[in-house]
Amino acid sequence: MAKIVALANQKGGVGKTTTTINLGASLAELGRRVLVVDADPQGNASSGLGVGGAAAAAGHPTLYQCLLAGADPRAAILPVADLDRLAVLPSSIDLVGAEVELVQAPRRERFLATTLEPLLADYDFILIDCPPSLGLLTINALTAAHSVLIPLQCEYFALEGLGQLVRTIRLVKNSYNSRLHIEGLLLTMYDRRNRLTFQVAKEVKTHFKDQVYRAVIPRNVRLSESPSHGKPAILYARSSPGAQSYLALGKELLNPQNRRQGAAP
Ligand code: ATP
Ligand code: MG
Repeated sequence: MAKIVALANQKGGVGKTTTTINLGASLAELGRRVLVVDADPQGNASSGLGVGGAAAAAGHPTLYQCLLAGADPRAAILPVADLDRLAVLPSSIDLVGAEVELVQAPRRERFLATTLEPLLADYDFILIDCPPSLGLLTINALTAAHSVLIPLQCEYFALEGLGQLVRTIRLVKNSYNSRLHIEGLLLTMYDRRNRLTFQVAKEVKTHFKDQVYRAVIPRNVRLSESPSHGKPAILYARSSPGAQSYLALGKELLNPQNRRQGAAP
């Protein structure tokens, strides 16, 4: 049965989508069957994995139709080129409407959990890329998930809003999903030449201790280039520090005993 991990942080541009794509690719490379669920109307995870065009084709169902129009999620799922075990449940801009339509619906927080239920036996991991808000799409992701992975950009305001995110996770856990827990916090866009980065990483580790992954994602131009080629970094620039750091994260996720509060990176 699949383990469902939501990648969430209401702060924009912290690396949620980059992490979803590249952690998904790494886990597939490590032999796991992985489904990426694009729960962001921006559709960046879909386009970054090269399925944006197919998802936008007339008549192809996307996550919106699965959530609100009874479409079969299996019919919406698209394969990722050159990575056998990775697939995407894509989204497109019409998903914006879901936030509004769900407000009126009974048990509005459970639509994504219900959509994913028939897929659980087909995958080892389901990674949900959340939008940068704590709206109903993110609440649906947290309600469907076993755990939350929180990417944090190593910059001055990294911890801002984190309290609100942790409170939201607790609220969903208490109200809708008692199994929910924090999978881990991931430091992204780490720049070893920047002293501020170092301080932020230290502060995050002081607060969250061994919940912080040992793997740290460096700022790496290959990670920002690869989505425009519709590929995860592991296919675009395999030996790049970015691709390799996501591979290390994949291994750590599969082997949590590897995690320890290591020295500052
Ligand atoms: P949003 O909140 O809009 O969904 P996000 O949290 O999903 O954003 P990303 O889209 O993954 O964030 O990253 C934001 C930008 O930073 C993108 O242009 C991405 O290519 C770039 N980026 C992410 N991680 C890295 C990295 N480690 N090195 C260099 N660029 C990065
Ligand atoms: Mg994103």
